[in-house]
Amino acid sequence: MEIACLDLEGVLIPEIWINFAQKTGIDDLLATTRDVPDYDVLMRQRLDILHRHGLKIQDVVEVIDGLGPLEGAKDFLDWLKSEFQVVILSDTFYDFTGPFMRQLDYPTLFCHRLGVSEEGRIEDYHLRMPDQKREAVKRFHELKFGVIAAGDSYNDTTMLGEADRGILFCPPQNVVDEFPQFPVATDYDQLKAEFIAARAAMRG
Ligand SMILES: [Mg+2]
Repeated sequence: MEIACLDLEGVLIPEIWINFAQKTGIDDLLATTRDVPDYDVLMRQRLDILHRHGLKIQDVVEVIDGLGPLEGAKDFLDWLKSEFQVVILSDTFYDFTGPFMRQLDYPTLFCHRLGVSEEGRIEDYHLRMPDQKREAVKRFHELKFGVIAAGDSYNDTTMLGEADRGILFCPPQNVVDEFPQFPVATDYDQLKAEFIAARAAMRG
């Protein structure tokens, strides 16, 4: 039985920080790792901005609650669960994902955690471990599972490389250019077809 590892943001749900920035009109929160490559610097910057605007965890969750998964994501995930064991590997935080998980029928999710004060002020963030997506795939291999992984961006490429087969879903062009070894799917029907093809290739 193969495990399907899926990225979350950009594959099943919208980008949380970007949508939060758009909904609140706080343009400073539009920065991503493309603008600020050092993730720690980026996260400290995001937390500073939230503090300056007096925003607490409940404010962020309230906005997220109105977003919902990407169109077709729930049906795709239901199909994937019928064919594979599915584990979602994400660099987001459990504190943000409740509303999405409810709407996606509570899939298995490995991600990180924020440090939140009793008043709801986001003080800090705690990564499970560096490069947890790739490390999880390594552990699944040690347990003798074959792994097919799909993601949309740079932070997925080590996971895709570690998996037996990696698939890019709606990636930006620079990622396509830099990682030509991975097939590209641009909608859920294509992604289904890539998972089926990957499994057939693995089973030889
Ligand atoms: Mg993503």
